[in-house]
Amino acid sequence: MKLLINGEWRDAASGKVFAVRNPATGDMLEEAPLGGEEDVRSAAEAAGEAFADWSAKSPRARAKILFFAAEEVRRRNTDLAALLTAEQGKPIREAVDEINGFANILEYYYALSAGERGEFANLPGYGHTIVLRRPLGVCGAIIPWNMPAIIMGWKIGPALTTGNTMVLKPATTAPLTCGRLASILEGAGLPPGVLNVVTGPGETVGREIARNSKIRKVSFTGEAGTGRQVALDAAPALKQVTLELGGSDPMIVCDDADIPMAVEGAVRGRFYNCGQTCTAVKRLYVFDSIADEFIRRLRSRVESIVVGNGMDRGVDMGPLNNPAGLERVVREVDAVCEHRDGEIVTGGQAPRGEGYERGFFFLPTLVAGLSHDSPLFSEEVFGPVLPVATVADLDEALIRANDSRYGLGASVWTRNADLIARATEGLEAGIVWVNQHLKIPPEVPFGGTKGSGIGRENGSRALEAYTEEKVVMIRL
Ligand code: NAD
Repeated sequence: MKLLINGEWRDAASGKVFAVRNPATGDMLEEAPLGGEEDVRSAAEAAGEAFADWSAKSPRARAKILFFAAEEVRRRNTDLAALLTAEQGKPIREAVDEINGFANILEYYYALSAGERGEFANLPGYGHTIVLRRPLGVCGAIIPWNMPAIIMGWKIGPALTTGNTMVLKPATTAPLTCGRLASILEGAGLPPGVLNVVTGPGETVGREIARNSKIRKVSFTGEAGTGRQVALDAAPALKQVTLELGGSDPMIVCDDADIPMAVEGAVRGRFYNCGQTCTAVKRLYVFDSIADEFIRRLRSRVESIVVGNGMDRGVDMGPLNNPAGLERVVREVDAVCEHRDGEIVTGGQAPRGEGYERGFFFLPTLVAGLSHDSPLFSEEVFGPVLPVATVADLDEALIRANDSRYGLGASVWTRNADLIARATEGLEAGIVWVNQHLKIPPEVPFGGTKGSGIGRENGSRALEAYTEEKVVMIRL
């Protein structure tokens, strides 16, 4: 792929490239330009020049281009999903869903565009007072590798619909799908400079997006530590920041829960995308009275998960996306054994044998019997490892669930109205699911409380996050 700057696909100013590899095989897929600060500056310049014409179009005219792009994305879903699986590792059916999810988001903002309105204030004596919503200007988007298409959609959908232009930085281990989606947007009629894509390291490309004074807002999705750095870098220019950071979502299974349904929920919630989802189930709390049966059933279901190359038929879980992620998971699981804190119920190592030699595979893993202060509960484990604890009742479950610096998602599994009311009220999270986990349709505001971030994406209010109010008072 190349950088997209001002409607042209070009090499990085440095002339250097980096390799994008398939995490299931280690094979090189393509080279991408090793962009740097200079490329971000060119992209911000181009986005600044494109802003006047783009922001002067009607919201509907802008969003129509997104709508046409969404149609083309659906038409090319098979190829896009194969590319996403090749660079990211997820099973092909998850990639197909993610590509459709990107199209859903663009269509959703197209539907909202017709209703974009300001306000009118009736203030006798002051003339006619209207409150306009104006786009911010050039916005920066920094995205991770775990759900690149969806997260690109969450950022470009509301930003471009409201008339902003953008400099977008994909992650280095999964930039190709973003590049392909950008070229579809161009083909659908996006004018040069409205969306610019700069690939390269976070330390150079990402930091320049955060610092560059031409960029008025930065929307970042990634780890909490990186988010903090982005906020610090953005502070001197007093730019707006949206931070969608990590999570350590608790799942609480009460004694009246539908156990087979909750087992499926835990399996999908944790092992979808090889456990590399911000709102994955990262801690499981089961009421004592059903714990033995629940863990027995969960173990057997986890052992039925087929691990392999996401392109192969019948594979439920692919590899981790990158070697650093695999090393971290291995370290976290090895520490359980070294400190004799907890017991590996199943998994706990890389699968062996043909097909697994060169990929970043790890078996789906359950760990039980951990102490409350185990790092598996306090840290965000970004891989297929699920720590399970037992609790006496909902009071204890809520104390344990909220004892975390994160607050992204949470779920409770029960049909008891009193337990639902107490759990939905008491859980500290940006989204609480009941008898489900992980679902985030385009209509709902998404983001976290506490250390999981600042601001919300998705949903209709995201339009407000990419605009600011301007009051006009007219006296005739
Ligand atoms: P990461 O923080 O390592 O990287 C995210 C992006 O930031 C990448 O493009 C990276 O190149 C860039 N980056 C790295 N250092 C930077 C710096 N100093 N300045 C600017 N940009 C920099 O995260 P990751 O490993 O790619 O993704 C996994 C994390 O993302 C997990 O913590 C996960 O929970 C989180 N996540 C959150 C959400 C959400 O909406 N809350 C969604 C998906 C993923």
